[in-house]
This record gives sequence, structure tokens and C-alpha cells, in this order.
Amino acid sequence: MARSYVILGDGIAGSSAAETLREEDPEGSITVVTNEDEPLYNRILIKEFAKGTMPEAPIQIHDPDWYADRDIDLRLGTEATTVDVEGHTVETAGGDSISYDRLLVATGGTPMELPVEGGTAAGVHYFWTFDDARRIRAAAGEAETGVVVGAGLLGIDLAAICGAHGCAARYLMRGDRWWRYALTDAGASIVHDGLREKGVTPVFESGVDHFETDTSGHVTAAVDSSGQRHPAEFVGVAIGLDFNTDFLADTPVECDGGIVVDERMATAAPDVYAAGDITQYYDVILDERTQNGTWGSAKEQGAVAARNMVGEDTATFRYVPSYSITHFDFPFLSFGHPTIGEDHAERTYEEGVWRRLAFRDGRLVGGVLIGDVSQQRVLKTIIREERPVGDHAEALLAEEIDLDALPESPVDATAE
Ligand SMILES: Cc1cc2nc3c(=O)[nH]c(=O)nc-3n(C[C@H](O)[C@H](O)[C@H](O)COP(=O)(O)OP(=O)(O)OC[C@H]3O[C@@H](n4cnc5c(N)ncnc54)[C@H](O)[C@@H]3O)c2cc1C
Repeated sequence: MARSYVILGDGIAGSSAAETLREEDPEGSITVVTNEDEPLYNRILIKEFAKGTMPEAPIQIHDPDWYADRDIDLRLGTEATTVDVEGHTVETAGGDSISYDRLLVATGGTPMELPVEGGTAAGVHYFWTFDDARRIRAAAGEAETGVVVGAGLLGIDLAAICGAHGCAARYLMRGDRWWRYALTDAGASIVHDGLREKGVTPVFESGVDHFETDTSGHVTAAVDSSGQRHPAEFVGVAIGLDFNTDFLADTPVECDGGIVVDERMATAAPDVYAAGDITQYYDVILDERTQNGTWGSAKEQGAVAARNMVGEDTATFRYVPSYSITHFDFPFLSFGHPTIGEDHAERTYEEGVWRRLAFRDGRLVGGVLIGDVSQQRVLKTIIREERPVGDHAEALLAEEIDLDALPESPVDATAE
């Protein structure tokens, strides 16, 4: 009998799983449930839409016909509310019960709210969906002053959006630099200069104590802990994600800051898999559990999960993620896990060109490239192949890295 697959979430993880499932199992029934009202779009590009540099159309990836053509039952605007693992069913907010033989949870995260007075006032924006991007584009376009909170990879998008709309924004950062867990002063200052060129002012050792609002409840300013007032008609906050796992309460699926899965994307519960941002996955390269919020990683996890759901159960996730920032006139790329290193090496090559590498247990685990990203491939290969390069920092800082001159891989990284 044909197997039934249910996928919760139509982001890139869920959608890539649906595509792989259909390729691997032409007879199976596939249902994709999403609480959004539109099918898969390119979440990476919604920032460009919000900046006003891209129209809507190229951001859509699939239209409903894409699903119909593949005999995939797409349920838009449908919230999964409960999973009965024993009974193999998913309940929805509309009262439907959908049964499955294999379930994939790919529901990602929701931006955390800033837990301060005014943190949800009108004009305070959190950024995850295309609808958020539409609101943000309109609001930033009208605002003359802004404040951005969250000195990481998503916060900088909000800062760039303000810059693109000529909204004079202050970017409040807790420490003395942007993305302080991955960058030192030398790299961060390149980013700070890039922000200033866009009309965004970095403000260090800062943070929001509360927001002020006008009589209609719309934000007017952020006040930091020292009492300094930063006028803001527009506020953008990106301080992390809460993972969408509520509907798994009272199930044997282990949730611990995300859904715990093995290297095959299987959860602790029978026939339940998870993929994408939501996973706390076992990383075979790092040899430990980790989490990663990148498009490429979510796509690959969806495909790996699907291959295992079909029954092969042999596909393994071995992947080195990367994340680029395209707001400036210089390239920026983070690769691997740049924040978990114990030893570091870095070099400035010329003004605006900088590289930092993070090592752990004698291996490269990640890094950041600014100004010249030409070595990204070779650096990712070194991580993926687990080459013991801990004593070869100088060779890895060379402008052109000679892979053949480095210690060979002790693993068969292509075997999985
Ligand atoms: C503004 C922005 C910029 C980004 N830029 C980059 C970038 O440059 N490079 C990069 O690599 N990554 C980037 N990312 C991150 C990247 O988009 C994510 O890592 C990726 O989209 C995760 O895919 P996912 O399928 O795991 O989750 P999601 O894309 O979050 O999809 C999960 C889906 O599940 C739905 N859902 C949640 N709960 C339920 C429920 N109960 N029932 C039904 N449906 C549910 C959600 O609404 C959502 O549609 C960016 C993210 C954002 C928001």
C-alpha cells in the first residue's frame, strides 16, 4: 500500500523534503501543512524586497501548481496544533485530523520578542515572513528615524533596510562591536564603516531598557539603560528565535532548544523526523549536537530526512554551512561554526580585506571572510574532510590556500 507522508512547514526544509519524497517515492501520498498563506518563497531574499531593491515576483519559488503537478496536497493557512505519535495523526487548528506513516517537522522558529516595556508596540518590527517584509518595507520607507536591536546576522538586515530607505537609524549593540562572538575589532570595524556609509550609526555598549510610545501606542523612541533616548519611528528587533515545537508537547519527541535529531534527521519518536532551523542535530563533523540557521543547511536536511523517511535510512547529514551578507560593496561570508572555536588566527591583507579562522581540537571549525571570499570553497572542504590543520594556521591564512600541501583527510567524507 502507498505510504503517507505529512510535512509540517513549507519553508525550504519542508519543501525540499516534499520534492525529494516525490522523486524517491512516486506512489506515496504527500501532504504539506503550512500556517502561512503562500507557498515557498525565498526567505533569504525578503530583505531585498524590504529594502525596495527587488519586486515580489522573483522571490516566490513555488506556486500552487508546483505542488499540484507533483500530486502534493498543499494545505495553506493551516496550523498544526497537536501530534499524536502513537496514533500517527496530526490535528490542525481547523479541526482536521491528518494521518501519516512518516511525519517530518520543519516548522522553524519565530522571532523572540524583546522583553521590555513597549517591546510589542506598533512600529516595533520582528522579521521572519514575507508579510513581515511587506510591513517593514512600508514602515521603514515612511520613517525618518530608526533603531535596530540585535548585533547578529539578521539584525544587520534590518539596519541595511533602514539605510536603503534613508531612515537615519542607530544600531544599538550590547558589546563593543557587531557580532562579537565571531569577529574581532579588525573585522567588525570594516562592517561598522559599511553601516556608517549607509547612514546607520552603530552605538556600542548599549541596549533597550524600554520603548516610549505616543498616545496612539506607536513607538517614538528607545531608551537605553543609561537613560539615553534614541528617537525612532521605526524599530527593528532580531535577538533570536523561539522554535515552533508547542504542538509536540506530551510526545516522546525530545525538544531542547529545538528538536533533537540524529545525523539522519530522525527524532526519538518512531516515524517522526525533523529538518531545518528547528533541529538540534548530531553533526558528524563536529562530533556533537549543534544547531544551524542557514538556507543551504535547511535544504540539505530536508532532502536527507526525505531519503530516510522513504525507508533507505542510510542518508547522513554531513554539511558545512555558510552565510553571506550582500548589503555592502564588499563581500562578507561566514562559514562553518565560527563562534565555537577555542583557538583563532586572523589576518588583514589590505584595507577592507580580512580573514579569521576558528580552530578546535586541532581542526578548523569555521571562520569569517571579509573583502575576499575566494577561498571559501577550499576552507569548507578542509572542514568537511576533517583535515587536522590545527598547526597550519599560516598556510590557511595564505591569500591562496594550497590544499595539497595540507594534511590529508582522515575520513572518507564522501562515503555518506
Ligand atoms: C530576513 C531573513 C534573512 C535571512 N538571510 C539568510 C541568508 O542570507 N543566508 C542564509 O543562509 N539564511 C538566511 N536566513 C535564514 C534562512 O532563511 C533559514 O535558515 C531558513 O529559511 C530555514 O528554513 P526552514 O524551512 O527550516 O524554516 P522556515 O523557513 O522558518 O519555515 C518554517 C515554516 O513552518 C511554518 N510553521 C511554523 N509552525 C507551524 C505550525 N504549527 N503549523 C504549520 N506551519 C507552521 C512557518 O510559518 C514557516 O513557513 C534568513 C532569514 C531571514 C528571516
